[in-house]
Amino acid sequence: MKNVLITGGSRGIGKACVYEFSNNGYRVFLNYNKSSDEAEKIKNETGAVMVKADVSDSKQVNDMAEFIHTNYGKIDVIVNNAGISQQKMFTDITENDWDRMFDLNMKSMYLVTKAFVDDMIYKQSGKIINISSMWGVTGGSCEVHYSAAKAAVIGFTKALAKELGPSGICVNCVAPGVIETEMNSHLTKEDFDCLCEETPLERLGKPEEIAKTVRFLASENADFITGQVVNVDGGMVI
Ligand code: NAP
Repeated sequence: MKNVLITGGSRGIGKACVYEFSNNGYRVFLNYNKSSDEAEKIKNETGAVMVKADVSDSKQVNDMAEFIHTNYGKIDVIVNNAGISQQKMFTDITENDWDRMFDLNMKSMYLVTKAFVDDMIYKQSGKIINISSMWGVTGGSCEVHYSAAKAAVIGFTKALAKELGPSGICVNCVAPGVIETEMNSHLTKEDFDCLCEETPLERLGKPEEIAKTVRFLASENADFITGQVVNVDGGMVI
C-alpha cells in the first residue's frame, strides 16, 4: 500500500484529494491545522490518519514527519496543497500579509518536502504534486502577494524536478482555475457569473476535478511527466 501525505486535507481541494486517494487504495495522511472537527469526520469516513501541523512551522512539520516515520514508515507521494488567499490592493498589503502569504503558500512546501524527500531519494522513486493557481501563471489584480507566491510554487516545482529527476522522483504542479471551495466564499453571485462567462467551459471547477488530476500525476500513468504545470481551469488560461 502506498502512503500519501496531503497537506490541508480538512477542506476544499485537499479534502477531495483525501477521498480520491483513500478510495483508490492509498493509505492517506490527512494533514490539517485548525479544522479538527472536519478532519475527524473525514477520518471516520475514509480511514485516513489525521496529522495535525501548521505546515508553515518547521518544528510542527518535523514532529509530523517523525510521527509518520516512527509509526508508518515512508511517504511515497506528497501533495502540497495547504494554502491561503487574500484580496487586497497592492498598496494595502502589509509586510505581515506578505510574509504570511509566502509562509503558508511557499515556505510550507519547502518545509514539508524537505521533511519527507529523503524517503524518496532512498527508494529512488516518488511523486510530489504542488498546488499552484492560474493566478501564479497569469498574475491576478488585487492579489499580487498571492500571485507571486503561487508563481514561486511553479519555479520551485521546475527546479526541484530537474534536481530530483536523476533520483527517479517526479515533481509537478497543478494550477487550478476558480474552484467551488470556501476559499471563494467571499465572492458574490455576480462575481461567479462573471467568472463563468470568462471561462470557455462556462462553469466553475469542482474540488474532485483537481483531485482526479492530482491522483493521475501520482500514478504510474504519469511516470514520464515531470516539471510540468497542469492547468485545470475550464480553459481560463489558454
Ligand atoms: P480552502 O477551502 O480554504 O482550504 C484550505 C486548506 O488549507 C484547509 O484544509 C486548511 O486547513 C489548510 N491550511 C491552511 N493553513 C494551513 C496551515 N498553516 N497548516 C496546515 N494546513 C493549512 O482552500 P482550497 O480552495 O481547497 O485551496 C487549496 C489549495 O488550492 C490552496 O493552495 C489554494 O491556493 C489552491 N487554489 C485554490 C483555488 C480555488 O479556486 N479554490 C484556485 C487555485 C488554487 P485547516 O482549516 O485545518 O487549517
